[in-house]
Amino acid sequence: MITAIGDVMRRAYEQGWITTRDGNCSLRRREGEWLYVTPSGWRKTIIHPEHMVKLKFGPDMVLDVPEGANPSGEIHMHWLIQRAGRSTRAVLHLHPTFTTAAMYRGFDLQQVARQFPEIFRYTRVGPTVAAIAATTRELGDATAAALGVDEAGRVASDIVGQAQHGVCAVASDPWAAYEHVERLEHICQMVLHSGVRPEDVEERTRLESGAPGA
Ligand SMILES: [Zn+2]
Repeated sequence: MITAIGDVMRRAYEQGWITTRDGNCSLRRREGEWLYVTPSGWRKTIIHPEHMVKLKFGPDMVLDVPEGANPSGEIHMHWLIQRAGRSTRAVLHLHPTFTTAAMYRGFDLQQVARQFPEIFRYTRVGPTVAAIAATTRELGDATAAALGVDEAGRVASDIVGQAQHGVCAVASDPWAAYEHVERLEHICQMVLHSGVRPEDVEERTRLESGAPGA
């Protein structure tokens, strides 16, 4: 499963969802004491198991980051989502083109997802995180909150958008997390190609929900 992280990052690069050194992924096995996370600034096209940064959960689930370890700049985000998880979990952060474009254009990803039963059925899309600088604690905090991570480590959503940045997906393995990104990316591509405006999707959502007009 650690090998899959490199495979997923290579596929994401081939898809154009990250530039060479972007994106990050972590994995924690069920109740495992280790967090495996991609190294900061490493070329994701050549990432293999031996390049992964292995960090130990100490008392109170605080991560021990030894001198010289160089985990992803988004380590705070990964830690928040991984620390209380009860089952094997992969957390994947990418910059998928159409999803990021759709957010920038003003589309509400939750409303967009509701228009497409296929994604709505398999991938729970959470509220979009505001535009917050990359690698900050604030971005990690806001992303974990948007995913609905609770004290028991459960998540309420499988993926959330991060405005003017990318997405963060959670699943039981790296490829399953990749699939959440792929599903959302595909419908964002279709929506952008269709020519609808964000306000059109809002109107459709409102009509479908039977809410009174403005
Ligand atoms: Zn990023």
